[in-house]
Amino acid sequence: MWGMSSPSAPPSAASPENCGLRVLWDERLTAYDFGPGHPMNPVRVELTMALARDLGVLDRPNVDVRAFDAADDALLRLVHDEDYLAAVRQAGTTGLAQPRHGLGTADNPVFLNMHDASALVVGASVAGARAVWEGEAAHAANISGGLHHAMPGTASGFCVYNDAAVAIRWLLEQGAERVAYVDVDVHHGDGVQAVFYDDPRVLTVSLHETPRTLFPGTGFPNETGGKGAEGTAVNVALPPGTGDAAWLRAFDAVVPQVLRAFRPQVLVTQHGADVHALDPLAHLTLSVDGQRAAYAALHRLAHEVAGGRWLVTGGGGYELVQVVPRAWTHLLAEAAGAPIDPEAATPDEWRAFVRGRTDEIAPRRMTDGTARVDVRTWESGYDPANPVDQAVLATRRAVFPELGLDPLDV
Ligand SMILES: [Zn+2]
Ligand SMILES: [Zn+2]
Repeated sequence: MWGMSSPSAPPSAASPENCGLRVLWDERLTAYDFGPGHPMNPVRVELTMALARDLGVLDRPNVDVRAFDAADDALLRLVHDEDYLAAVRQAGTTGLAQPRHGLGTADNPVFLNMHDASALVVGASVAGARAVWEGEAAHAANISGGLHHAMPGTASGFCVYNDAAVAIRWLLEQGAERVAYVDVDVHHGDGVQAVFYDDPRVLTVSLHETPRTLFPGTGFPNETGGKGAEGTAVNVALPPGTGDAAWLRAFDAVVPQVLRAFRPQVLVTQHGADVHALDPLAHLTLSVDGQRAAYAALHRLAHEVAGGRWLVTGGGGYELVQVVPRAWTHLLAEAAGAPIDPEAATPDEWRAFVRGRTDEIAPRRMTDGTARVDVRTWESGYDPANPVDQAVLATRRAVFPELGLDPLDV
């Protein structure tokens, strides 16, 4: 499943090539900025868009870059509480903390106009959902989105409004009966899971570093969905140190199976790049190449299980120069049906821009030198003493039966 070194490359019903991709982008998205010293610096999306542009990803005939409206209150209220919206507005105009709503903490400092900046991020994801649902584009991408920790009444983990959850609720409002959300950020997608925990129409799948060692402390395998929605939350909690081959093996052992069982009409994915070994906030050890393989797998699955309807969001990722821009440029290129050769050089003009913008030396190539990921797939057997296999088995045992799947099936 993972390219030339892989034994299994299942044919997809539809071709993942040359699909229309709508990219939702507006320079004002960089106003989502918690200020100097905060890990989530919007320069990461600025450098990503610059790299994608310089590599020609955004100029392809099947890609269109569009502006969009900010989410209004009616949209935000699909997920968020009225008093929370008022608190975010007040914080963004007065500068005062709103402790009851998680605003004004070290993680979620108050910043000027934070309501407007956060509503813009939501607007981009909803515009993407709309383009995909109405068939204007097979795929849509909002790399500034994926703010998966935000809760209905509180900010959390650098996330003010939960753009993915609002977009999914919007799809349900349009009549979607089954929407799947797959979250490959290093942190558990707790906000999205919480919003839809009791809703059988939404499958949330999160692969992350175990909550025993990482924020937000949830995402255990036994979180499988509330009453009436059993089996619609799937959590794979991986040990610190998990790298490309083991991560992709875990993905391969869980994600295709649960998506095939659920048969979503739309696939929404969150692509936090903080799984990378260089990320300062977490302890998995993926490379850009391993992430690229995951993007390709999700693209294939979008075609196989969701009729190609695929909404892509960004997410975490705090290695602002060496990791995020390359990872998400690969993501946009994959969604555009034109994956970038890992061996490709980064353009000179981009490296010069990075130098001027950040004072850092930009990476010279689109690979970390690990493009050949040798993945031993689950079909070839598992080792009950291996910690990653134990994590996979815990997830399979907890949730597979609720989806009508056999936990020990290969
Ligand atoms: Zn496609
Ligand atoms: Zn994260």
